[in-house]
Amino acid sequence: AARKALLKVDNLSLFYGKAQALDDVSLTVHAGEFVSIVGLNGAGKTSLFNAISGLVPYRGTIAWDGVVRGRESAAVIARSGIVQCPETRELFGAMSVADNLDLAAQHLDPREVAERREWLFGLFPILKARGGQEARTLSGGEQQMLAIARSLMMKPRLLILDEPTLGLAPVILGQLSEALGVLRATTDITVLLGEQNVTFALPHADRVYMLEHARIVWQGGPARFAAEAGTGYL
Ligand code: ATP
Repeated sequence: AARKALLKVDNLSLFYGKAQALDDVSLTVHAGEFVSIVGLNGAGKTSLFNAISGLVPYRGTIAWDGVVRGRESAAVIARSGIVQCPETRELFGAMSVADNLDLAAQHLDPREVAERREWLFGLFPILKARGGQEARTLSGGEQQMLAIARSLMMKPRLLILDEPTLGLAPVILGQLSEALGVLRATTDITVLLGEQNVTFALPHADRVYMLEHARIVWQGGPARFAAEAGTGYL
């Protein structure tokens, strides 16, 4: 049976002035899949995600849930279920951990907010322990977890994680990895993960695309990636 493409990107190109950040990029993400986009700094991962989230203009087509998009605003796209957890986290530093979570879920009814918050506290126990603390007092790793939890609060159909491991200590990487594993095993959420850290990304990938200098240069399963990628890259 043909699997359903939740997101289908075709011939996407993106320019900043004359500088080309994406060159004819095509990719498909099926419902329920975890897809990793691996690539070095500047390869174009953030540009790709920003196009999918409707934050930057692009050439090419993006189909969401079987329908080719027009030029919907980022707000409309977010409401359709695409939630991007940005590299920069964008937390409200002076607000508590719990308030950061609840603010993200204003469209849900109060009982559902409380339920989701408890579910997320189970996924990221450290956030429960820090629930009353101001977000700015959290460690970098805890802030990353809060940023991901806040994105999940919005009930995304597609969660885009842009380099969640950036700057994190190894112990936090382990916790983050575990949380992603639980998410994958226990929900039907679809995830697009952008990573420079291939070691982190591979175990969480059903499929992998490699982005290099604005182009997709490789695609396939994680096992084949591990076997074929140059040792310098891994
Ligand atoms: P990073 O991990 O640094 O975010 P990336 O793979 O996400 O890397 P992009 O941020 O998409 O890559 O950047 C792709 C290319 O576009 C890079 O050469 C970058 O310098 C350039 N670029 C990104 N944003 C802009 C901008 N606003 N104006 C001009 N050039 C930009």
